[in-house]
Amino acid sequence: MSFASLGLSPALLRAVREQGYHAPTAVQSAALPPILAGRDVLALAQTGAGKTAAFALPLLQRLVASPPRPGPRALVLAPTRELAVQTAQLLRELAALLMHRPRVALAFGGVSINPQLMALRGGCDVMVATPGRLLDLLDHNGLTLAGVECLVLDEADRLLGQGFADELQRVLAQLPARRQSLLFSATFPPAVEALAAQLLREPVRIDIEEAPPQITQRAIQLDRAQRLPALRQMLRDAGWQRALVFVASRYTAELVSDKLHAHGFKAGVLHGELSQGARRDVLAALKDGSVAVLVATDVAARGLHVDALDAVVNYELPRSAADYTHRIGRTGRAGATGTAVSFICADSAENAESHFRLIEKRQGQRVPRERLPGFEPQAVATEAQATGGIKSTTRKSKKDKLREAAAQAAEGTRDGH
Ligand code: AMP
Repeated sequence: MSFASLGLSPALLRAVREQGYHAPTAVQSAALPPILAGRDVLALAQTGAGKTAAFALPLLQRLVASPPRPGPRALVLAPTRELAVQTAQLLRELAALLMHRPRVALAFGGVSINPQLMALRGGCDVMVATPGRLLDLLDHNGLTLAGVECLVLDEADRLLGQGFADELQRVLAQLPARRQSLLFSATFPPAVEALAAQLLREPVRIDIEEAPPQITQRAIQLDRAQRLPALRQMLRDAGWQRALVFVASRYTAELVSDKLHAHGFKAGVLHGELSQGARRDVLAALKDGSVAVLVATDVAARGLHVDALDAVVNYELPRSAADYTHRIGRTGRAGATGTAVSFICADSAENAESHFRLIEKRQGQRVPRERLPGFEPQAVATEAQATGGIKSTTRKSKKDKLREAAAQAAEGTRDGH
């Protein structure tokens, strides 16, 4: 399958080449023809499947094919600012090669509204926004949605999951009834189903679940105190060019990043309390290689899109199975292979083992437990010894750092060094 055979115009074919895409991904092959034909589309696609281009390309092609009109003529709603920024960026890069270069406006919350209002003064053809800020702009008469011909809901499950349902309905109420609607979602819970039923007219359904991202999942049992040394060893040995390490809090993110930095790793940090500028800088640093390990919280990493991420490490487990899917989906994108490593700590406050079992159950996949030589968990090993599961005690004479860290974690454990 080629982009040309899907009906893309020569200018967009050139834009696609400039993006470095050789052939369409599965969701692009399936979505381009019906979107170009003006049909509504409901696409079940994981992040990383190439879904942004799957709607951006045909949307732009349809836009430039008909005479200019006051805009916005297309509205893309995204759940997070990161996703909105990335989507607008792709749209702008693609649009740059078109004759009547469509203007792409971008709006998201958490920053001053004034520059966004100013930017809209000259009008726009495509509006990419998070729902809350779009409503603010509408309240300020920054734009009208009366001319919208095409609506895209990106990551609809997250849009609904993040409490945007009411805001979404308020936006939808302002859209003209006659329009094309495209809904992309990684999962299809009842709320998304209801939204699809409300929004879409005889949609073409696309489900590309048969081509999941190629992610090798690993679950490593170790003690909490061993996580940092184990992570350092993995980073050194695995040959990952770029890795994303997930933690549960801003505090841990800073801590882990600082410790890695102190050990000579090119570490960066991404969490919700960073300024927009700082986030942009660290993402740029990850892209250009000056940061190789990004330590992030879930909030900050939503919708994050980094090419060629070799590995995701769950330094701390995510709260929900949905977050797990989302986290590990940051690697193995667009046909590349990736590794997702989860640390399972028997001595963590929550019961990590049963929590991870729940995650496995939800995703319908079992991940074999492993131990890293030199980092075997004391708590679990002791228990196994008691039941005859582990034979020798020689593991106690391992490296210095193991002893050090084990000593820290030793309160409550019985064995003596
Ligand atoms: P998305 O699912 O839109 O987040 O895209 C995931 C990644 O796939 C992005 O980094 C895109 O640059 C990349 N990508 C999208 N389409 C293609 C394609 N046809 N060939 C290669 N990479 C692609």
